[in-house]
Amino acid sequence: MPFSDFHGNPETIHRLRDMLARERFPHAVVLAGGHGAGKYTLALMLAQALNCLAPTTTDGLPDFCGKCANCTRIGQAEDLDARFAEAVETRENLRETDKKETRLFVQTHPDVLVIPPDPPQMMIKVDQVRRVIETIYYRPPILPL
Ligand SMILES: [Zn+2]
Repeated sequence: MPFSDFHGNPETIHRLRDMLARERFPHAVVLAGGHGAGKYTLALMLAQALNCLAPTTTDGLPDFCGKCANCTRIGQAEDLDARFAEAVETRENLRETDKKETRLFVQTHPDVLVIPPDPPQMMIKVDQVRRVIETIYYRPPILPL
């Protein structure tokens, strides 16, 4: 699913891809918009474009292949409801004492961490934020070519 499959906000998509092309992508991007605007889909696409092992270009701008190991693994997070349900089920199967201290994360690729709201309150918990703070400085491994 390349960037051309993203419907809507063509100016924003073009601007983000242009930043990728110039290798001037910021360290953080806030994607804001209403429910169903495609924020999560776009975030995954950007993660795929940044991590793609066989990047391509479409319309003269960077794109991702959608087929390499990194694109595939990141793409597994597309069905967030299913990944979220798996995480909740896994936590439910823990011992009672471990259950209280375990926070939910969806991580289908080592460099992409999705933080869903934690039930039953459906809020981002402080332990989830602590995990981000602890791991955000890790550099991805340098892979041999
Ligand atoms: Zn790829």
